[in-house]
Amino acid sequence: MASVSKECKECGKYYSGDANGKEITCPNCGNETIQVSAKKWSFDVCTCCNCNQFYRRKDFNQLLGCLIIIVGALFVPVTYGLSLVVVLLVDLILYRRVPELIVCYKCGAEFRGFGPIPETVELFNHHIGELYES
Ligand SMILES: [Zn+2]
Ligand SMILES: [Zn+2]
Repeated sequence: MASVSKECKECGKYYSGDANGKEITCPNCGNETIQVSAKKWSFDVCTCCNCNQFYRRKDFNQLLGCLIIIVGALFVPVTYGLSLVVVLLVDLILYRRVPELIVCYKCGAEFRGFGPIPETVELFNHHIGELYES
């Protein structure tokens, strides 16, 4: 299922919804709406802000990654360091299985499950990112 998430420009709250072509309204303030259909959209122009630059990133929960490492570190004395090896492996496997999502440079909207991301969309580039920092 394709979905889109975004931090509201009006109130700063993070919200998300299905990318089924229907309007998604910020549940907090109701002042911002996103309308995107996963079937029609082809990664050309951001449906939220008309920006045409995107980057890809893994949809990986950083918090979960940290938690796994902490647990691994806790068990080091008991397992003579083996737990760290296990943690690294789990991390690697998890990371590989995690799907990628596409993010708008300008408004930070995240598009998940929109199908294969085009080759032209690259990883986050700091130089481009700086241009959009406000
Ligand atoms: Zn809002
Ligand atoms: Zn945007």
